[in-house]
Amino acid sequence: MKGEAGSMRQEKPKQEERIWGSMKRTAFILGSGLLLLVAFLNSVSGQLQRFWDASGCFQQAQWERLLSTFEGKEWILYIIATILVPALLFWSFNGLLLVADTARKPNFISRYRIQVGQNEPVDTMKLRQSMRTILFNQCMISVPMVIFLYPIIKVRGDPYRRELPTFHWFLLELAIFTLINEVLFYYSHRLLHHPTLYKKIHKKHHEWTAPIGVISFYTHPIEHVASNMLPVVLGPILMGSHLSSIAVWFSLALICATVSHCGYHLPFLPSPEFHDYHHLRFNQCYGVLGVLDHLHGTDTMFKQTKAYERHRFLLGFTPLSESIPDPPKKMD
Ligand SMILES: [Zn+2]
Ligand SMILES: [Zn+2]
Repeated sequence: MKGEAGSMRQEKPKQEERIWGSMKRTAFILGSGLLLLVAFLNSVSGQLQRFWDASGCFQQAQWERLLSTFEGKEWILYIIATILVPALLFWSFNGLLLVADTARKPNFISRYRIQVGQNEPVDTMKLRQSMRTILFNQCMISVPMVIFLYPIIKVRGDPYRRELPTFHWFLLELAIFTLINEVLFYYSHRLLHHPTLYKKIHKKHHEWTAPIGVISFYTHPIEHVASNMLPVVLGPILMGSHLSSIAVWFSLALICATVSHCGYHLPFLPSPEFHDYHHLRFNQCYGVLGVLDHLHGTDTMFKQTKAYERHRFLLGFTPLSESIPDPPKKMD
């Protein structure tokens, strides 16, 4: 017993060392990733910059026109950019996906399904019940939270400044928002998998082992604030961003969350295999980009699967489940 207690005591510092080591590696990789990105942007974005400059005059003129239209009522612009535009994009995209999930139209889309045989068609009763939570989270949490953040965003930097951000600055901001989102989402999500928090909070989101687009918002309200909203809104607050950057980032975040839950690996869209596998297996793939999962070793099982081989940007129309098929099932 004594020996066991001793080895337990030794085991604990070792574990702490391991976690600390991973975190240091994480900071190093994320830091150097950011530096590399800046170097990349400086070297190859000349062309894009020229394009941006050419269209920039037009965008600048449109922005100035908007500013003069809403002069003295800038808060209306804030509501349009941070709530209406992202919500409209979210529901347009999810509307199309819901047609595919419920009516199985268009036919070809089922070829891109990740978990074959699941949601074909989707259980409408379960969907209707989930919809109540999704609308509650969006209308009663996201909207008030974005309104509540208004004075904070204004204090951090004038979001209505006349000058639109430059192309380089806009890309750099997007990279920083993505990194902040990855770190906060990974750790808050992993915390939600602690048995106590999982049972009380996160289990709800995992009721869907084969998710569909709108399920990105199907969470307990606490999870919606901690894991869906905070990691996304913190970047623009810290950076004191321009309203145009905030609108693009919020819209991108909603579209990416939808894609990662949609259940189809569609051409020319980011791969949803990573988060789909999380819904299937529960204890793998906690992050968004996968960098932190790689560093913390929470993707080792995933890396041995066909889903991992298929986890790439699909540049053609042949579904990856056909070009990288599952191995034939063993017969007993
Ligand atoms: Zn999910
Ligand atoms: Zn989870």
